[in-house]
Amino acid sequence: MRESFQKLQEHLEKVSALGAALALFSWDSETLAPKKAAEYTSKAVGILSGEMFGALINDTTKECMARCEQEKDLDVEEKGLLRVLKRQFEELEKLPREEYEAYQTLLAKGPSVWYEAKEKKDFSLFAPVLKEIVEYNRRFAALRAEKGQKPYDVLLGDYEEGFTMEMLDPFFAELKKEIVPLLRHVEENPLPKAPLRHCSIEKQREFNRFLAEYVGFDFERGVLSETEHPFTDGLHSYDVRIATHYFEDNPESGIFSTIHESGHALYEQQVNPAYNLTLLGGGGGCGLHESQSRFFENVIGRSEAFWKPIYGKLQDTFPEAYGSLPLEGFLQEINRAQASLIRTEADELTYSLHILVRYELEKELMEGTVQVEELPRAWNEKYREYLGVVPQNDGEGVLQDIHWASGLFGYFPSYALGSAIASQLFACMKRQMPVEEYLEKGNLLPIREFLREHVHQWGKAKTTVEILRETTGEDFNAGYYVQYLKEKFGR
Ligand code: ZN
Repeated sequence: MRESFQKLQEHLEKVSALGAALALFSWDSETLAPKKAAEYTSKAVGILSGEMFGALINDTTKECMARCEQEKDLDVEEKGLLRVLKRQFEELEKLPREEYEAYQTLLAKGPSVWYEAKEKKDFSLFAPVLKEIVEYNRRFAALRAEKGQKPYDVLLGDYEEGFTMEMLDPFFAELKKEIVPLLRHVEENPLPKAPLRHCSIEKQREFNRFLAEYVGFDFERGVLSETEHPFTDGLHSYDVRIATHYFEDNPESGIFSTIHESGHALYEQQVNPAYNLTLLGGGGGCGLHESQSRFFENVIGRSEAFWKPIYGKLQDTFPEAYGSLPLEGFLQEINRAQASLIRTEADELTYSLHILVRYELEKELMEGTVQVEELPRAWNEKYREYLGVVPQNDGEGVLQDIHWASGLFGYFPSYALGSAIASQLFACMKRQMPVEEYLEKGNLLPIREFLREHVHQWGKAKTTVEILRETTGEDFNAGYYVQYLKEKFGR
């Protein structure tokens, strides 16, 4: 990196340091922080966010940037740094600082209000806060929009650069067209349902720790903890934190949450360490991030080849629950598809329909064609229409996800994109190596190396569009995903 860029990078170290501190607060508030901490902690978070804003948006940054922009023949890192910075800079520069701070303060208490409303299954407790969050998002998106750009497209771009409603509308339309009939076919020929299996939380912790390590999670640079709603947070590649969730009667839920989050975590841990505490650190777009978790959870994690070498270990850990169940029976259980109410518990086939519901509602919220108060009713109607099931209360309906409480609008589509990207990368990987053979031998190293080389190491230096093009030789192509689902569930 040449001098002008190094200077810019040094000037921005404070932004990254504050970013790491905020990531830690965010992880803490959903795992260990006591219930009553939110009121005061949110104030501290608001102040730190304001500091971060100030460290990023100032004349020195502008001057350094201008100097860098004059350089020619930029390398990958230089190009990436300038791209990431310009995005953040332009995004924040258009927002009044006081409003931005007020919004961050609001967001810091959003999740705790949501938790309470969810516990009481009462949307009206959450609605006033959500209304404010929606208003901020609409206003900020309008302020940031380029001429002619729709507010929701601004938000979509925050999570996956270069992806818009124009691309997503046909993508979801195709999924709807293909999945709804396939789901009907599958529901007419159901696989056996897993019975309740009592497995002690202590034993589950032990097995899940093994699983995370098996997938490749490095415990010397990471932590595995517990929460209501599993997630992964990374401060930098040497401190990556997973929070998973165990149910006493449903060990499979914990198993696949852990594999999923380990996929996210592996990505964070395999980013080039030279990017740590710079704007290039951490994983790239959310859709790409989600492709890594879904690749491990679904594409390989639910396959026979993956479980062959380790199913015995599962049986040994829980002899009463799995001792008499052959591997084939286990595979049928974990690949069963059926419409259900809860997104995080949804199977691979119906998952994208849950996202479709949220995509459509977010679009309408941002366009103002649906109001916050109307959400529970609109939610239930869409579930009836696409999945054929209706929530009995807000807790299993509109209140089930934390995302909106954290201000994440435009994020949900990246889950569906993640599945599609995972299928596209998998097709490419299979052309280059005997993936199944490696899995059967319990050798995940070549798979991790493929992902490190093509995806992980680049952090934010390359966009998803670039990574897909350079790795697979083509642009985003939903066809691989549809083909994958048809093949797997048609069977
Ligand atoms: Zn995920």
